[in-house]
Amino acid sequence: MPLEFLRRKGPSKNSPAAVPEAPPPPIPEEAVAEEHQLRLTFGAKTSNGVRMQGGPHILAALPTMLDNVAKTPVEVVEPRATVLAAASPSIVRTAEALEWLRAHGEASPITRHALYVLESLDAIDPAYDTFACALLDGTVDTSGYPEYAAIVGGVAAHWDEATGDLIVRAVVGWGGRGARGDTDRTAGRLLGQLLNNILESGDALGLTALDRPGGAPGGATVTCQHCGYPLVHPRAVYCPKCGMRMLHA
Ligand SMILES: [Zn+2]
Repeated sequence: MPLEFLRRKGPSKNSPAAVPEAPPPPIPEEAVAEEHQLRLTFGAKTSNGVRMQGGPHILAALPTMLDNVAKTPVEVVEPRATVLAAASPSIVRTAEALEWLRAHGEASPITRHALYVLESLDAIDPAYDTFACALLDGTVDTSGYPEYAAIVGGVAAHWDEATGDLIVRAVVGWGGRGARGDTDRTAGRLLGQLLNNILESGDALGLTALDRPGGAPGGATVTCQHCGYPLVHPRAVYCPKCGMRMLHA
């Protein structure tokens, strides 16, 4: 009887079922994980604003404020067109990313890197800032993009909503897949040089601690009749983006 039992269930030379079944592997309490991780480090520094005597010629003079600091030609980024109000340098937000590329896709790799870093950190607001920018320290890779330890930046300017003066700030930024200990110190030195250049540019009236422009508490805003910028303070006399006098009803 035991022999009969073994013959039915046991190995047979012609059947694949002859291979003895391996015991089921034990169910692991945890999966063996291969770890994936990416750490990005971005940094930026901005100076106080410097109040400049109003006038269109000052905007044209912004690139000269990078004299002796810029290592590459200075590129000037105008404030974004108001129709691109949703633009954001976030590739998974495709609608916003498309607007961002429409606004900045033609800029140089250095400028796009600078905008990406500084806008992500809210150090500048391209919705109303005019930004004059260059590579300030470090090197670019073979495609022309700044390495993680490179420092980019320059000056950012907007119009004071109360007086119509131009407010110019020094702005520097850096970062990517890495960090270096001396970058912060170098960035601080470059920020000081840029601020000095702004103050010595001839039209400077002095430092100002003004807040960045924006709507009143509670979110109240009005739209500029000239450029369509929608986030002007309800009592603003001048538009921070185009510098034109607001017409209040
Ligand atoms: Zn305007």
